[in-house]
Amino acid sequence: MTNAPDDAAARRAVEPVVCYPVETLPAPDLPLYQDALVDAVPGMTQRVPPRDADTIVVPAGSFLQIKSVEGPQVGDLNLFSATDLSERFYSGKTRALHGTHITVGDRMWSNFPKLRPMATIVQDSLEWYGIDQFGGSVHDVIGTRCDPYTHHLLAAEHYHHCCHSNLSRALATYLGKHPRDVEHLVHDVLNVFMCTGFTRDTGQYFMKASPVRPGDSITLFAEIDLLAVLSACPGGDCSSEHSSDVAACFPLEMQVLTPLDGKLDKWRSPPINGYDGGHGA
Ligand SMILES: [Zn+2]
Repeated sequence: MTNAPDDAAARRAVEPVVCYPVETLPAPDLPLYQDALVDAVPGMTQRVPPRDADTIVVPAGSFLQIKSVEGPQVGDLNLFSATDLSERFYSGKTRALHGTHITVGDRMWSNFPKLRPMATIVQDSLEWYGIDQFGGSVHDVIGTRCDPYTHHLLAAEHYHHCCHSNLSRALATYLGKHPRDVEHLVHDVLNVFMCTGFTRDTGQYFMKASPVRPGDSITLFAEIDLLAVLSACPGGDCSSEHSSDVAACFPLEMQVLTPLDGKLDKWRSPPINGYDGGHGA
């Protein structure tokens, strides 16, 4: 136990400062994207089976739509540059820039040294949810992904259909390798449709039944050529538990939508980060 100082109340009352004001970030041209989405042509579709994952390539300048089908289901999404797998989604910096949960207008940023928008969220049928009375919201970038290592620490079991393993298997199939040889490329995810937050009293990560229903969707605009890998989490709607075969699980659908010619003439794929890489050496 520590004794609070005399000015404890005054110290606690200091107003917070937002770490990264985003006003100077290059703003996406949302009206341009949304106009291109209206009559974009549906193409390649991939149905992700429950407790499994699959891959889809999304060319720069097209859309990736992720849809709930059949029943409430959350998904764990990895994004790679399709031409350089060392460039991948950086959930921590995305969280620092846009907050714990992301929706329309927010961007999914890539890791160092490229740090640029990989994708921009242009449509989200769950945007209405906002932040509930528990501090919960949808599409988080705070969870990492369910994985067999943490599960083994907590339950001393070998469970093979956690999102980490599902993503590793799907990526391995895509690359023609063994999951063990590619799992280091799997990274912290965007928890699509998942409803999460931190408990106010203990600060613990919580989940609750996702508000997603069949027909709901989220659509990303691919700012660069993307390889998307999506796992239909063994937690189903994440109302009770994950890392097991207990929860009701449903498939998810991924679909590429291609804008009509001329719709995106004003758009340019973002360049890699402009920092010179000197690091003071
Ligand atoms: Zn999972």
